[in-house]
Amino acid sequence: MGKKKAFFLLLLGLLLNRDYGDAVTLATLKDFHRRRVQVLAESGADLIAFETISNKLEAYAELLEGDGIKIPTWFSFNYKDSVNIVGGDSFLECASVADSCNKIVAVGINCTPPRFILDIVLLVHKLTPRVTSKPILIYPNIGETYDPDRKEWVVKSTGVSDKDFISYVSKWCEAKASLIGGCCRTTPNTIRAISRALSKYSSVLPSL
Ligand SMILES: [Zn+2]
Repeated sequence: MGKKKAFFLLLLGLLLNRDYGDAVTLATLKDFHRRRVQVLAESGADLIAFETISNKLEAYAELLEGDGIKIPTWFSFNYKDSVNIVGGDSFLECASVADSCNKIVAVGINCTPPRFILDIVLLVHKLTPRVTSKPILIYPNIGETYDPDRKEWVVKSTGVSDKDFISYVSKWCEAKASLIGGCCRTTPNTIRAISRALSKYSSVLPSL
């Protein structure tokens, strides 16, 4: 059996459902995050995952390009439906920002209900020219709703069982997703079930 390689990932979760409004520009966000990203980039991690991005203003492609950051990164976005991220931008806009930066090794979707994922991924292949040539990563939540005011998950009928979650996995693989996992409210059992479901597919992990 081959030796498994371990990666040290730094997850930089951005503020869930944050609406910055028009007053916050890309320059404001860059000033706020510049030092944080530099410290993380020097930590010895193999990759920084910018995740749960809810507004394209948070897409730090310019920051990564302009500040001598050597470490690879991925960008994953937080969707409110099958078309738009929580801040209202489309996947087209978000992925094209990610595609413009060669430090970004993958782009995708996280902390989004599983039922929205397939249509978003299929859109990547439908559009000509393709909106991104980066590998697509997916790690959805379990489908429940987060209430940012109460700061808690609202258990509604939209949540899915592990069995239902896994029923999506083969569809995501057939839609050429490269990396699949689980975000909020998934459990070790969900991850074990994903791992079993993926065992029949060959690895298409991006090289770091
Ligand atoms: Zn999450």
